Amino acid sequence: MFSKILIANRGEIACRVIETARRMGVATVAVYSQADANAAHVALADEAIAIGGPAPKDSYLRGDAIINAALQTGAQAIHPGYGFLSENPDFVDAVVAAGLVFIGPSGDAIRAMGLKDAAKALMEQAGVPIVPGYMGTNQDADHLAAQADAIGYPVLIKAVAGGGGKGMRLVERAGDFADALASAQGEAQTAFANPAVLIEKYITSPRHIEVQVFGDGQRAVHLFERDCSLQRRHQKVIEEAPAPGMTPEMRDAMGQAATRAAEAIGYSGAGTVEFIIDGSDGLRPDRFWFMEMNTRLQVEHPVTEAITGIDLVEWQLRVASGEPLPATQDQLSITGHAFEARLYAEDVPAGFLPATGTLSHLQFAPDCRADTGVRAGDVISPWYDPMIAKIITHGPTRAIALGQLARALEQTQVAGTVTNLAFLARLARHEGFARGEVDTGLIAREIDSLAAAPPVPPAAQALAVIAAAGLWQGDASGFALWGALRRPVPFDPPAAIRVHGPGHIGVEIDGMTHDCVLAQDGWRVDGAKTGAAMQMDRDSVTIFMAGAHRFDIPDPLERGSSAETSDLTLAPMPGLVKSVFVTQGQNVSAGDRLAIMEAMKMEHTMLAARDGVVAEVLVVEGAQVEAGAALIRLEEEE
Ligand code: ADP
Repeated sequence: MFSKILIANRGEIACRVIETARRMGVATVAVYSQADANAAHVALADEAIAIGGPAPKDSYLRGDAIINAALQTGAQAIHPGYGFLSENPDFVDAVVAAGLVFIGPSGDAIRAMGLKDAAKALMEQAGVPIVPGYMGTNQDADHLAAQADAIGYPVLIKAVAGGGGKGMRLVERAGDFADALASAQGEAQTAFANPAVLIEKYITSPRHIEVQVFGDGQRAVHLFERDCSLQRRHQKVIEEAPAPGMTPEMRDAMGQAATRAAEAIGYSGAGTVEFIIDGSDGLRPDRFWFMEMNTRLQVEHPVTEAITGIDLVEWQLRVASGEPLPATQDQLSITGHAFEARLYAEDVPAGFLPATGTLSHLQFAPDCRADTGVRAGDVISPWYDPMIAKIITHGPTRAIALGQLARALEQTQVAGTVTNLAFLARLARHEGFARGEVDTGLIAREIDSLAAAPPVPPAAQALAVIAAAGLWQGDASGFALWGALRRPVPFDPPAAIRVHGPGHIGVEIDGMTHDCVLAQDGWRVDGAKTGAAMQMDRDSVTIFMAGAHRFDIPDPLERGSSAETSDLTLAPMPGLVKSVFVTQGQNVSAGDRLAIMEAMKMEHTMLAARDGVVAEVLVVEGAQVEAGAALIRLEEEE
């Protein structure tokens, strides 16, 4: 076993790897960017080395700096985590050339799976079923259109170098093909510097089921499947293992196909073979097809750990240090059912807009596994993925594990940034999901009810008023001043309180008066126990009571917002200005593209709000801007 390893990553996965290494008696070295100097993974590791600026290209993507850090600290191996350099074969080769061990597959195995078209061809040869489609090199638009006709609509255009759903377009009719192709190629060129695409039959009612594999370079075993069908815009939201409705025959067929895939490329370490399933008629062994192989540990690996009782990071370290596979296929089995929900700083009603902020309060439910890379007081910065934590539950049955998940989400407390908690909790209580009726379109179909702001319990509102008045602790000091007088409290909607005595307050709001009493077990409102907790921030208060309820505390001095907002194009969130399409003096029409911003792995196109002339371009390509920064100013045409 290694005595010291370096983790070339940050956030929850860096912390996750460090924890297992520690348990195994292996010392750890963290690397960090300027933005992460005080991050959790740095605090947790035995040693930490600064490797550059906050932008990933200046730090976490600098293979040379990371290898130097390993050599300098005497680490023998590098764990890449996921994302960043984890699937970069040139980095793997450089690690090996430096005399270090890469905890993961060989550069060649990654290369074999790196491009979707080559991977599909290889899998077809290995006898793994693949989605019918065209994956040839002829990228001529007419040729591709003819291929799409031959496959039959609907079809899916995918960037061969794609990932994260980028460069992917669903085309329903032949008439839409040319436009969809052009935009997929454009996005692929921007994101991957490779415009090539492949075309696949679009599977209607698709389910995403993936198989965890593990190889030692010769042999491979599988650790069963995960169902990741609950997605929004092709990104996973809640994952589970095993897959609902899975039959022993189907599991066997998928497991064998995945193992064949891994062995075909001499795979070493943890990997995932993703399949798409036509779930329109239940799960059938002839209705699954290879999509791609992810040659790293996946975000959702904990659900597999929960049902198999295996620590996959431990296996990674053991196999990378030269041990054979720790178990044979028949020693592996499934116990119970597990779920994982991805908790993000994002504004769901605003279209899942990534958010930033300082986590003024962070507390997880007692009965779950919470994998996180942040602590209360930490900042969700614009530089990286805004994931706060993964909430994982494991129970003897699917129904119990799902109930645990819903409760764990309802009890999770986050303040200081908006989150997707309410959305996740609703999903966890969704009746169709509870029945196991999952497909990748579920969230999109029901987005309105899932994303609606949760109703505010009147008791939470009353308690927010007490907090805003500074009386949460029920302090008696200053009572002489308050007396039983009716005192207005700046709040929206307007509110007033009457202090009847220490810890006894009447709150008037929305035409109702609530009797609030501070008892041994916390605040009671109109006689009902609330169990509420409170977090006060600069301009808001959050009451945690069956979910988080955030109330803005109005600043009486706040100025009205300025008039000509439609003249100004503002950054909707902090991020990178990727492209600017206009120059000063240029005429634009409503709907014209002005600029593209990139934040947290997503691109957002800014469009002209009206016809006009570009008066000023206030940013340059490559600039990092804050939320609300003015990007472009328009003026009326002369
Ligand atoms: P990426 O690498 O960009 O994430 P994938 O090939 O992994 O792209 O596909 C992402 C998601 O898109 C899948 O999980 C699935 O929901 C959907 N998808 C992919 N291929 C198909 C297909 N042929 N038919 C229907 N849906 C698909």
